[in-house]
Amino acid sequence: MLESPFRGLRWQATEPGINLLPKPIQVPDFPAMSVLPDLSAAVGHTPLLRLRQASALTGCEILGKAEFLNPGGSIKDRTALGLILDAEKSGKLRPGGTIVEGTAGNTGIGLALIGASRGYRSVIFMPDTQSREKIDALRVAGAEVRLVPAAPFKDPRHYVHIARAYCESLNEASPGSAWFGNQFDNTANRDWHEATTAVEIWEQTKGRVDGFVCSAGTGGTLAGVGRALKARKSGVKIALSDPTGSALANYINRGELVAEGSSISEGIGSSRVTANFQNAPIDLAWSISDQESVPLLHQLLREEGWCVGGSSGVNLAGAIRLARALGPGHTIVTVLGDAGTRYQAKLFNPAFLREKGIPVPAWLDQAFPS
Ligand code: PMP
Repeated sequence: MLESPFRGLRWQATEPGINLLPKPIQVPDFPAMSVLPDLSAAVGHTPLLRLRQASALTGCEILGKAEFLNPGGSIKDRTALGLILDAEKSGKLRPGGTIVEGTAGNTGIGLALIGASRGYRSVIFMPDTQSREKIDALRVAGAEVRLVPAAPFKDPRHYVHIARAYCESLNEASPGSAWFGNQFDNTANRDWHEATTAVEIWEQTKGRVDGFVCSAGTGGTLAGVGRALKARKSGVKIALSDPTGSALANYINRGELVAEGSSISEGIGSSRVTANFQNAPIDLAWSISDQESVPLLHQLLREEGWCVGGSSGVNLAGAIRLARALGPGHTIVTVLGDAGTRYQAKLFNPAFLREKGIPVPAWLDQAFPS
């Protein structure tokens, strides 16, 4: 049998919160070295990128938080870490325990990777409509993946209800052995964004941020960043960029949870108000179509080199709308939540885009001739 090269070095989660401080540590033998102790410490601290074309177009400084640079490739690494640290602290997640979650993919990838580095096993339930790339990434991350048919939230077969029931069954068989992350309604998600993402944005802009805009899946990012920025600067505008097919923009603008249309974006939009989204301080909301958002992300890739996913396109469209609403001279921050490569077969597939009525740029047709 092959021996693990890391034998004896495995970190045991015996001291909750031991890895809480995502600060470089000094290694005693090499005082000049600045290193991170583990994966958890590598989550967050992402750069803020100036988006050149959007800024030139609007006369504002439009800045994107490069969340695709997180170790698991998305902003949801932050959510995963915030939920795990909170559960370790409260004792709900015990050493060697099993993490169970329902996710569109990215939170699961974060939970599985951070879980691996802290000694937990992960079982992830997700709808079978999500991208192949994300499902594969989850498996590679070591998660046990259970795909379930897509169902509305009120249906007990919805992936979140199935995940919760599965976790309960594990705890019935062996009390305290499993923990349900519950990212949609566990407000430790929002709190972690309030404590980290927002503080980074505030410090990186030296407090000069005038507006923040992003889409909402759980609502943790928008609510957490919105709350923290408003607490520091009451005049800051917080906006929701909602994909068509989601009910949230109508909920903010008209108080009605009704959705129109559809979108190829994944992991964003909602048909209900989650505990994380509830009471988010939102000033403005827009519904954004794929026809508006996808060309923006194609252009961002082609002319500025940033390869980002569908939610980033929706966020970029929202940033341009917020810039127009505020007028030139403002600083607007948005989120680049994950990488475009996670949706290669959709966002960069001319046949798929045509089928959905989304414009196909000439360079993409040339890159993938049919
Ligand atoms: N962007 C990406 C890439 C995501 O995966 C998600 C959540 N699945 C979001 C944005 C939405 O973030 P939140 O859940 O904090 O609302």
